[in-house]
Amino acid sequence: MQSEPLDGNGNSETNLQDFVRSLNKAELHLHLEGSVQPETLREIDPSLSLDEIRENLHYSGFAGFLKAYVWVTKKLNSPEAYALATRRLLLDLRRQNVRYAEITLSAGVLLWKQQKIEPVLDAVIAEAGNFPDIRVGWILDAIRQFGVEEAARVFAIARECRESGVVAIGIGGDEERGPAEWFAQLYRNAHEAGLGLTCHAGEVCGSESVWQAIRIGARRIGHGIRAIDDPELLEILRERDIPLEVCLSSNVRTGAVSSFEAHPFRRLWDAGVPLVLGTDDPALFYTDLLHEYTLAADVFGFARNELRKLAANSLRYRFQSTASLANALFEQQP
Ligand SMILES: [Zn+2]
Repeated sequence: MQSEPLDGNGNSETNLQDFVRSLNKAELHLHLEGSVQPETLREIDPSLSLDEIRENLHYSGFAGFLKAYVWVTKKLNSPEAYALATRRLLLDLRRQNVRYAEITLSAGVLLWKQQKIEPVLDAVIAEAGNFPDIRVGWILDAIRQFGVEEAARVFAIARECRESGVVAIGIGGDEERGPAEWFAQLYRNAHEAGLGLTCHAGEVCGSESVWQAIRIGARRIGHGIRAIDDPELLEILRERDIPLEVCLSSNVRTGAVSSFEAHPFRRLWDAGVPLVLGTDDPALFYTDLLHEYTLAADVFGFARNELRKLAANSLRYRFQSTASLANALFEQQP
């Protein structure tokens, strides 16, 4: 399908941006720690210069990215710092007309830093309460390679805080050193407690990793792009209506794919797999959600009705229940 003509003034990029901004949409794959901009880090630690911060955030390849991510998380050394990060993030989401966000908190990393999860969670939930125009659900993420016991601690807190804003659990980290099947029982327990289940998988490892995520009950897959290599898996994702949370800039910046042109986004879409767009770590990937939608149009040829469908998907596949959301969210415009 061809893109709709924009207008005659040649200012098509601005118009596309305006169109994307106007869509009611949700951000479902977004790590709080990866959203912290250099200026915010400087507010948290005024002893750092912006140059120093930018140097530490500069990386190449997946290992370099993880190092930068860890550096940021170490700077977030108090509940107040996490609350400030939340405030800056929600201001940015408001600018983009993001109406609903499921924000992942790397709770497994908090344990690794020997910080208590609960005070941080209380602080970010309280801060999000200052933004009544954006609904926020929290996803508590455990680190695969830290093992089952650590994940059990994270998910127990998720269960306790379900009423106050935690909507789901997830696992991230090293797909090879922490296979999803280790966490099968924990996922079952979380599901029984009413929590949504997501799982990073098929980002750098192959489709078998996505199969495992599905076997333990994941209802959404973080990335999952290697599913493109496995027609049987594509069929299951379609049949069971399990969406992939695709993060285009992330995949190129980390080297999960070699270029936008090599990214299977369009092929996954054409294969009928449910997709939502996310930013993953917007500060580290120099992106925002508007930019990801713009990439879908400019690089992958998504027409406006397809962008509308992507935005509708982002609301449809959220974990928070419909009842608690205003109907206005679902009236797509323009
Ligand atoms: Zn992620």
